[in-house]
Amino acid sequence: MACRCPTCEAAREGRIPRRLASSAAVIDRKGVRAWLIDASPDLPEQMETVRDAMGGPKVSGVPLSAILLTHIHMGHYWGLGHLGKEGMMPRGLPVIAPPAAARFLRENRPFKDMVEWGALDVQVSHPGDTIDLAEDLSMRPVTVPHRADFSDTVAWLVEGPREKVLYAPDMDHLEDSFVDVMTSVDMAIIDGTFYYRDEIPGAMDRVPHPPVEESMVRLGRVLEGGTRVAFTHLNHTNPLCDPRSHEFEQVVSQGFGVLLDGYAVDI
Ligand SMILES: [Zn+2]
Ligand SMILES: [Zn+2]
Ligand SMILES: [Zn+2]
Repeated sequence: MACRCPTCEAAREGRIPRRLASSAAVIDRKGVRAWLIDASPDLPEQMETVRDAMGGPKVSGVPLSAILLTHIHMGHYWGLGHLGKEGMMPRGLPVIAPPAAARFLRENRPFKDMVEWGALDVQVSHPGDTIDLAEDLSMRPVTVPHRADFSDTVAWLVEGPREKVLYAPDMDHLEDSFVDVMTSVDMAIIDGTFYYRDEIPGAMDRVPHPPVEESMVRLGRVLEGGTRVAFTHLNHTNPLCDPRSHEFEQVVSQGFGVLLDGYAVDI
């Protein structure tokens, strides 16, 4: 917001792709149902993208079977603010979150109010639990290390009839156990906040993230094992925001990907 850096100005002027806050949806076209992963501040616009992709008749109302949260940081849950009395109040929309995130929503206004009004039905999902969405579609949370300002953090592993996809937009660093999980999926979408460790002086102390440059070295064996790996959740300082940058070319030439808004994978 209000940033005049060359990247933000280029995105406003359409010279590089505009990126909304990271968010993903699991869509069952057969059942015309959708589950959203994270409610970003860009929720109204992202809801339209989901609605368009679902097919079926367009009727008023929140077209989601549930919202699954990764954690409580503004980029990932502030969209819930649209689901109260002053917005589009759904009836008992399930919001599935890791334990401390669920507690945060139940104990703090205005989310607590939305629960009391019956708009949101906050449910806890513990790491290791499997949530069956449809006959051949399930999701499960995987714990990731991330600064616990308000809650714990998870990635979501989605398993469809053909593919398993891991969505992990935000974490402090790549843990060995998490890299092992990456090797077990067909595609992993992971935190690409910063490209370089020193991209913003001192940022790694305040808001640590695994730098893309280092993740690529670390994840070579994951690619060799056949997992596709793509980066998301880019900070505006990340040169990957510009598809013509040298760094973007490096990522692609090493066999990794950078997600653009609207990217879809058939699972
Ligand atoms: Zn900027
Ligand atoms: Zn975060
Ligand atoms: Zn984030």
